[in-house]
Amino acid sequence: MKILVLNCGSSSLKYQVIDMDTRNPIAKGLVERIGLEGSVLTHSALARKKEVIKTEIKNHTKAIELVLKQLVDPEYGALKDLKEIYAVGHRVVHGGETFAKSVIINPTVMKALKDCIELAPLHNPPNIAGIKACQKMMPETPQVAVFDTAFHQTISPSSYIYGLPYEFYEKYGIRKYGFHGTSHKYVSQRAAILLKKPIEELKIISCHLGNGASIAAIRGGRSVDTSMGFTPLDGLMMGTRSGALDPAIVTYIMCRENFTVDQMNDFLNNKCGALGVSGISSDFRDIEVAAKQGNNRAQLALDIFDYDVKQYIGAYAAAMGGVDALIFTAGVGENAPNTRASICKNMEFFGIDLDLEKNKVRGEEVDVAKTNSRCRVLVIPTNEELMIALETLELTK
Ligand code: ADP
Repeated sequence: MKILVLNCGSSSLKYQVIDMDTRNPIAKGLVERIGLEGSVLTHSALARKKEVIKTEIKNHTKAIELVLKQLVDPEYGALKDLKEIYAVGHRVVHGGETFAKSVIINPTVMKALKDCIELAPLHNPPNIAGIKACQKMMPETPQVAVFDTAFHQTISPSSYIYGLPYEFYEKYGIRKYGFHGTSHKYVSQRAAILLKKPIEELKIISCHLGNGASIAAIRGGRSVDTSMGFTPLDGLMMGTRSGALDPAIVTYIMCRENFTVDQMNDFLNNKCGALGVSGISSDFRDIEVAAKQGNNRAQLALDIFDYDVKQYIGAYAAAMGGVDALIFTAGVGENAPNTRASICKNMEFFGIDLDLEKNKVRGEEVDVAKTNSRCRVLVIPTNEELMIALETLELTK
C-alpha cells in the first residue's frame, strides 16, 4: 500500500511516496522556486537515476501535475499507475483550535482550513493549493490533512493563554498553538518503543533542533507545553528567528529603524537568531567552524542556543514533575554532538548523565546516556513524512 505525502511551502513542494509495508520511501523529490524564475524539480525513485527538470512551474497545480507525471514515468518513475496511490497525506501548518487530530478532507474541512488562513497567512494558502490540485488530479483518492499544531492541542489554558486581555484570545484567537507537532509526536512514540515502556508512563522532553527549533514537554504521550507560540517565532533562538524577546524591543526597534510592520516581521524571522548574533550564517555547521577558529560572536551564538535549550529542559522538568527521557532530533539535534554535550553539561542533578563516547553518534537512533543515568538521552532522527503517512493510512484504511 502506497501513500503520497505532500508538504507545500510558499514556493516549494516536497513529496515522498511511502510503501507502507516497508515504511520506506520509494520515490521522493522537491520542487523549488514555484511561481518564480528558474523553477526546478529534483526527483528520485528507488534504484533509478536522479532526475532534474528545469521548466516553468507557475503554481502548485502545475508543480503537482509535474510530480505525478514523474511518478509514473517509465524511466524515472516508481509507479505503473497513479491508482496505486492509496491516499494522499498533506502537511498543513495551522489547524487552529478546530483540529486536534488529523482529518480526512471534505468540503467542511476545506472551509475550516480557509478560516485558519488568518493565523498562518504565509503557510496555509500553499497547503490549501496543494490539496486542491490533488483533488483535481486524483478525484477518487482520499486526502488527509495532518497539522503541525494538532499534537499541542492538549496543552492547558495556563500555558496557552498569554498575559493579554482575555478578549484578544476570544476575538483574534491569540494563544499559544505550538508547531513541529508531527515531529514531536513521532520521536516521542519512537522513544517509548526504544525504551520498551508504555508511552503513558513516560515524561519526555523532545528537543527538535533544526533551522526552526522547538521543545515539547510530553507526559503520557500528550503535549503538556511547547516553546513555539502563536507563531513559530517564539521560544528558542533559531537559525534566523529571534525566539522569545522582551516584547517592548519590537516597538523600540520599529521606532529606531523606521521599520514598517512587514519589515519588522521579515527582520524577526529572517535576520535575527544565530545569523544575527554571529553575523556569519544561519547554518550551525558554519557557526561551529567559525567558533573553533576563535570567532567570539559565533561562539556566543552557540552558547545562547545551548543555554536557551537548557532553560526549557529545566522548565519542562518542573512542569511535568520530572523527566524520564530527553530526545534530540532534527538537523542540529541529530548531528551535533558538541551541542548535545553542551546542553547536557552539569545536568547530573536532574538525572541527565551523557556518555560522551556514545554521544559521538550522528543521525542514528541511539541512547547516548550513561548506563546509570536516571534520565535516558536519546538521539532519534525525525521522520515527519512517515508520521503523516501513518496517520493518513490510519484514517483511510
Ligand atoms: P529545517 O527542517 O528546520 O530547515 P533541519 O532539521 O534540516 O532544519 O536542520 C538544519 C540545521 O541542521 C542547519 O542549521 C544545519 O547546520 C544543522 N546541521 C546539519 N548537520 C549538522 C552537523 N553535522 N553539525 C551541526 N549542525 C548540523
